[in-house]
Formats: sequence, C-alpha cells, structure tokens
Amino acid sequence: MALDSSKPSAIYTLAQGGTQDFLHSLYNTTITGVGTAMVDNPALLKRANKKVVTNALVLALIDVATANGDFGWIQRYWNTYHCQNELTSHDGKVYGNYCKNRWCTTCCGIRKADFINRYFSTINDWPEPHLLTLTTKTVRAKELSARIRLMIKNFSRIKDRCYKRHRRSGGMKLIGTKSLECNYNAAKGWYNPHYHLIVPSRPMALYIKQEWTREWNKKEFIVGDRGQDLRPVGNTEKDLIEVIKYGAKILTDPNPYNKRKRKKGDLKGLKIYANALHNIYKAFDKHQLFVSFGFNLDQANKNAYSTKEVQEFENWRYNAKEMDWINTMTGKKLTEYQIDYQLENLLKEYIDLELF
Ligand SMILES: [Zn+2]
Repeated sequence: MALDSSKPSAIYTLAQGGTQDFLHSLYNTTITGVGTAMVDNPALLKRANKKVVTNALVLALIDVATANGDFGWIQRYWNTYHCQNELTSHDGKVYGNYCKNRWCTTCCGIRKADFINRYFSTINDWPEPHLLTLTTKTVRAKELSARIRLMIKNFSRIKDRCYKRHRRSGGMKLIGTKSLECNYNAAKGWYNPHYHLIVPSRPMALYIKQEWTREWNKKEFIVGDRGQDLRPVGNTEKDLIEVIKYGAKILTDPNPYNKRKRKKGDLKGLKIYANALHNIYKAFDKHQLFVSFGFNLDQANKNAYSTKEVQEFENWRYNAKEMDWINTMTGKKLTEYQIDYQLENLLKEYIDLELF
C-alpha cells in the first residue's frame, strides 16, 4: 500500500538511523522479485536511462497508433509509460512492478538477464556452439506480418522433418535457441525479419542452414546463401546478449549502409523510427520471440517472481521532468541520473513519426 506523504505522523514514526531514514509503517506492502541494490549500483543509473528512452518512445508510439487508428494499442503503450513509476525500497533494495511489454526497454533488460541466467550454463557446455543467422528477402510493411508467420511455419516444418529423419535413420536432432528480430532499413523503407540461432556444433548449423534454404526455395528463389551467416561463438555471454536483443533495435542509423564501427554509447546521427517500430511490434504480436528447441532447461529461477510481505519500506515515484524517482517522504532522488546530451538531443529532435 502506498503511503501518502501528506498524512499526519500518527501512522508512522520516522527513526533517524545515521544517514538513513527508515519508515516504520503500520501497514505492510508486497514486493516482487529479488530487487535491485540501491547503493553503488550502476544498474540503477541504466534503469533511469532506459526509462527516459522508453517514455519518449512510447509517447511517439501512441501518436503513431492514434494516427493509424490502432486504438487497441494505445492503452498497451500507456501501460509501458507507467511501468515502474512507483518503486518500493526495502532493506537496501528497490522493487517495482513490470509492464512486461517488448517495447519497454526496462522490462526487456530484466527479461534478457533472466534468459541469460537460465541458458548460459547449458550453452557454455556445448562442444562448439555456433551462431547462425537465417534471413529471407526483405519486405515492405504490409507484408511483414505474413512473412513472420511464414518464417515461424517454415522453421517448425524443418524441425518436424529433421525429427522424423532422426527417428527413422538417426539423422541429427535439432537443438538450439532461436530468437526473432527485425531490422528496419530507413533508406529503402524495407523490413528485414531474421532469426539468430545458437546451436551446439558447426555441422548442426550447416544442416539447419541447408534445410532453411531448401524450404524457402521450394517454390521460388527467396533465400540466397549470402544472408545466412555462420560463425563460432566466441564469448558465450557476449554472444547470448547479442542474440537476445528482444526483437527490434530502437535506435537506428538512418543510413543502413554506414559500416563505420560505433563506439559503445555513441548515438550520433541515430534516429528512432516510431512508425516502423509500431509495424514491427504489430507483426510480432502474439508470437514468442525467444524460444529453445530440442533440449530442456533445469527449473527456471523461481525467485525472480516470488513475492513477500514487508513492513519497513519507502516509496519512490517517478518524475518525468526530473528523470528520476523521488522519495515520497524525503524528496531524495533515487539515482541522481543526468541525461547524456546526445541522448537528450536524439529524444527531442530525432524521433521520426513519418507515415509510409
Ligand atoms: Zn516495462
């Protein structure tokens, strides 16, 4: 239960404990998950940064959905705007509730960490894990949903066919993780949905690549060899992070042929194509983006979503202008986040709402 800071002191006592104030409430509150450390934790600053990006993005997505008459999407985007607006701190950690939408960079960050925790040891035990990228021809916005449905169908046909072959004559049973992603080519207005796979060995990667090419080229030539990239996994964790991007890049280079290597954090020239992202989220809707096949994981980390009742807690409310969570009792800022000038400029000037 949230405490109103204007209530009289009858319902709480404020105890001075060194530099920290603890709120002793007569009420309980429920916290979910394992929480995030509040002191000396760079993850909190990252969360503040993600919140700023997400808020700017969803406001643009709301405009796009309104202009397109996609009224069902407007509330879903607003839910993300309010994601983690209220945080509760308890015993040195903060807890929040999550909107769990794939356009929420905060929630994606958390889910990504969760996936990495769950899959890391299995993939790390594979003899020679390989990364495989599977593409098809690029499409226009109106063909995107159908193309994604066909990708899912074709992959599942390949899996079934290989499984039958495996049962019948001992061919390889397909094992791996698969994540669906879609890039947007702003210069041409093209969409490029593709899969990133991690598989246990090079022969399996080659086998899947061959089946993929065959499946798509049955009727007409859609898939060439060029788009199907294959390389050994170098650093399992880094490559997992790379693979689980969670669907779509939010910051896009207007020139997709710009091959200059960007330093981490360099945002110069990037744009947010809100209309393209809305098209991608619509095409992704009701599909799982990250799936594994051919193996089972140990039980998932149950702590992630367990809840508990606590008595001593403080409430923090997000203030969009301050770009930070403010303690409802003390007025203290949670993260002391300062926006980077390049990002501030990008969010102000470079959100593209153009319809096409
Ligand atoms: Zn969220």
